[in-house]
Amino acid sequence: MPATSRSRIVADVDFDRSGRQHGFLRLFHSVHASAYGFIPIPIVVLRNGDGPTALLVSGTHGDEYEGQVALCNLVKSLDPARIQGRVIILPAANFPAAMAGRRTSPIDEGNLNRLFPGDPDGTVTEQIAYHIEHELVPMADLVCDLHSGGSSLMYVPSALFGGWQRDGSSTKGVAALKAFGSPVAYVAETNQGGARTLSGGAARQGIVCLGTEAGGSGHVTRDALSMVQRGVNNVLVHLGILPEDARIAPDAPTRFLEVGGPDYFVYAPENGLFEPLVELGEMVRAGQPAALIHLPETPWAEPATAHFARDGFVLCKRVPGRTVRGDCLFHLGTDIAL
Ligand code: CA
Repeated sequence: MPATSRSRIVADVDFDRSGRQHGFLRLFHSVHASAYGFIPIPIVVLRNGDGPTALLVSGTHGDEYEGQVALCNLVKSLDPARIQGRVIILPAANFPAAMAGRRTSPIDEGNLNRLFPGDPDGTVTEQIAYHIEHELVPMADLVCDLHSGGSSLMYVPSALFGGWQRDGSSTKGVAALKAFGSPVAYVAETNQGGARTLSGGAARQGIVCLGTEAGGSGHVTRDALSMVQRGVNNVLVHLGILPEDARIAPDAPTRFLEVGGPDYFVYAPENGLFEPLVELGEMVRAGQPAALIHLPETPWAEPATAHFARDGFVLCKRVPGRTVRGDCLFHLGTDIAL
């Protein structure tokens, strides 16, 4: 670790040692039941010789399981003798949230992906964010932050690059997104250097961060898992950490989408029960009804209707039926040539 580190988290792995190591980031947390204890955030480091470093993260949101399963598999399957460089794997970044199967931490309600750049003297979740942005990200040439829709959303399994810039300057991120090789991938301009996400933190360090929205609904599908596993593998090949013959050819060319501003999103206009009028993967038109919100307490009342504000591809859909005003029901993507 750099001598200037202000992070209070201590890693019990040596990032410069060759071979495979596993251990914990020790986040000291003095509570009634454990005066001198630490929160053990698992970390795995594989290194062989000199070369680029990939930082692979999941469990930033604890109820997003596809990336966590993919990285649990990768930890066992990746042979350090086969790599050139270094792979740092953090499968349960917000460890308390991951253990609880929740988006946010049960300790401090922290949403890790809204707390970057973090605070070395802050809450548990702020300390994790600070350590990732200031200790782990600077070691990396590329970061993968593996998300999905979690408990409340379901995505068409996708890879994404949120640091995209419309002026065409973000060529490294676009090249990595193409290398990922998912059936659907999207770009957005939301994760630039000001963002409170891990992707924003990587942007502050000048490092490309790819993400996924691998599915969701609080479960894992074979399709979503294979998309993540293939994509991570192919990004390691893209970086030169794995040899070219390790590349897994995609089943189909990638469909690239853009996710833009507020008109891409549909929100619940009322409290009630969400009846979707379209499904994931459909093409919709501006003005088309997206959902009805029913009022079971007065079932004779007309439901409220939510509409799509623009044309697009239905990329993301809300899962729970019970809904309150302001919940995101859908978001769209629009086809783009990259
Ligand atoms: Ca997420």
